Amino acid sequence: MSPESDAAAAAVAAVENVADRIETEREHLTDLDSAIGDADHGGNMARGWQAAAEAVTDLDSPTVEAVVKTAGKTLLSEVGGASGPLYGGSLVFASAELSDGLTAESAVAFAETYLEKVQDRGDAKVGDKTMIDALVPAVHTFKKSVETDDLPPLDALAKAVAAAEHGVAFTVPIRAAKGRASYLGWRSVGHQDPGATSTLYIMEELLATAADHLDQVVPSVDATSPTIPDGEATEE
Ligand code: ADP
Ligand code: MG
Repeated sequence: MSPESDAAAAAVAAVENVADRIETEREHLTDLDSAIGDADHGGNMARGWQAAAEAVTDLDSPTVEAVVKTAGKTLLSEVGGASGPLYGGSLVFASAELSDGLTAESAVAFAETYLEKVQDRGDAKVGDKTMIDALVPAVHTFKKSVETDDLPPLDALAKAVAAAEHGVAFTVPIRAAKGRASYLGWRSVGHQDPGATSTLYIMEELLATAADHLDQVVPSVDATSPTIPDGEATEE
């Protein structure tokens, strides 16, 4: 297998693994969304990712870009609510960063473009109790780990997952300012955000699939001290 088709096969496996994980977590995501939303996040995501897994398996001679784009398009058409366009549209848009294949650099560009698109579409910032609270620390940590700290991609991804985990925990004590949960005002305090949680699950599956693909074990990182994003440091 060429390196390109090998990476594409890993991308297909990643989508399948995400679909399986989201199906396993379906009830949990629904419970989280019933506390501060309308109880559809588990069903939405499970249906969307299942369809995405089928669509990417059907691709003839896939590339990483085509796999990500196809998954995104499928999520866009299958997932309703706020999260469909946020997940699906951003994946479709960011997939272009992978047109020359998957490298540490293209993965950083993909992650940054994905985050930008979610922010463009949803207009949420850190602290609004959305998927942005998991994504921002994860993407910044990933970028800094690759570009400044020169960590191997798998270690960088493991750090990003740890950062996302902190982001998910951060959503619990804060008040929602965007999305359906914001209608609850202060009553949203004390509940974990469903979209931040599904973002973490997706990232955990990307990490597990990448480790499997590289024939390595998932690196253990110090989850209590994820890399702090530092704009100055990246300029040096
Ligand atoms: P809906 O809220 O329309 O029922 P879902 O239940 O599928 O859609 O998704 C809810 C999740 O979407 C929230 O938990 C939150 O993480 C995310 N979300 C909602 N609005 C925004 C936004 N403006 N920006 C980013 N994420 C958002
Ligand atoms: Mg909902």
